[in-house]
Amino acid sequence: MTAPPAPEMRAEGFAFAVQARDGRARAGLLQTPHGEVETPCFMPVGTKATVKAVLPRDLAELGARIVLANTYHLYFRPGVATVAAHGGLHRFMGWDGPILTDSGGYQVFSLADTRVVREDGVEFSSIYDGSRHVFTPDLAMAVQEALGADVVMCFDECAPGTATRDEVAAAVARTTRWAAACRTVQTRRDQLLIGIVQGGVDETLRRRSAAELISIGFDAYAIGGLSVGERGAEMLATVDLMDGLLPADRLRYFMGIGDPSGIVDVIGRGVDVFDCVLPTRMARTGTALTRRGRLNLRNARFGEDLAPLDETCDCVACRGFTRAYLRHLVMQKEILGAQLLSLHNLRLLVGLAADARAAIMAGRFTDFTNDVAERFSAGGRPE
Ligand SMILES: [Zn+2]
Repeated sequence: MTAPPAPEMRAEGFAFAVQARDGRARAGLLQTPHGEVETPCFMPVGTKATVKAVLPRDLAELGARIVLANTYHLYFRPGVATVAAHGGLHRFMGWDGPILTDSGGYQVFSLADTRVVREDGVEFSSIYDGSRHVFTPDLAMAVQEALGADVVMCFDECAPGTATRDEVAAAVARTTRWAAACRTVQTRRDQLLIGIVQGGVDETLRRRSAAELISIGFDAYAIGGLSVGERGAEMLATVDLMDGLLPADRLRYFMGIGDPSGIVDVIGRGVDVFDCVLPTRMARTGTALTRRGRLNLRNARFGEDLAPLDETCDCVACRGFTRAYLRHLVMQKEILGAQLLSLHNLRLLVGLAADARAAIMAGRFTDFTNDVAERFSAGGRPE
């Protein structure tokens, strides 16, 4: 396919082009030094430089193209020097496709109950040993440059869903200052830096945050500060708003959404990439996402069920094993159970994004949306 001319990017070796639109949904292509990513795209989360219980080979086989790793966790364990000694995350974790690192901002704000927000950064206690640390835009960029991911994120302040408007406004102001600082201190030209829009569900603050970040100028933009406890309708209204504010020719990343209907909702509002720990976290508690809703394999009724998890799924768990066997693994806490359920849940979400892309390219995204809503709402609640 011949892509339209892509906008010029600051990052060297990158390009992004929207290839097709259907309503507000977009199908695009991101090119990186470690390969191409077709969008819409679900990014598996490899918090500590591993997607839990999943080999890189298996990730590639199930269709994952880009994985996310967390700066906060890698900074503390094993430490930046160990990763840098490998030449960066690709060699360290054995994944030669594109990698994205977050800035640590989200963890600093969500994990620490003793944080002190300063104008230059955040002082907090490590969840590993309680020691005090300060993350600043400079440090977050230096760490991400040493980790060596393809795509890196600005250090931002993600206000919780319970924050007051004044608190969210202060977070927006700091996020802008810190984003400018991140851009200034960036030295690597081969990393795409994403600016993160904050502002909670307040329209004025969202507009301000988007305008300020766009005036700094980034190759791609993330919608942060959602999925933090706000109501679903408020979240979607905010994504609607962002669709009208963000540059149409830049990649858009929604941080932290993993339920199938939510994914389709944001794709329909112009989001290109998204991530969530949900598929692998649910797998480790014995829950499978399926096209007929969630299955909790701890439920005794699966004890004699010889069907696959999802008869429409082509993953290794569905091709080779019954629900009764998978339930047995879960009940006996066999690690193969977590592995197979992780592979299945990831395949479902990666496949869902690929199906959305195919529907957008074919001009039938509305039908696809209705179909997903029907299937996932029929039995979509946990059992
Ligand atoms: Zn499967």
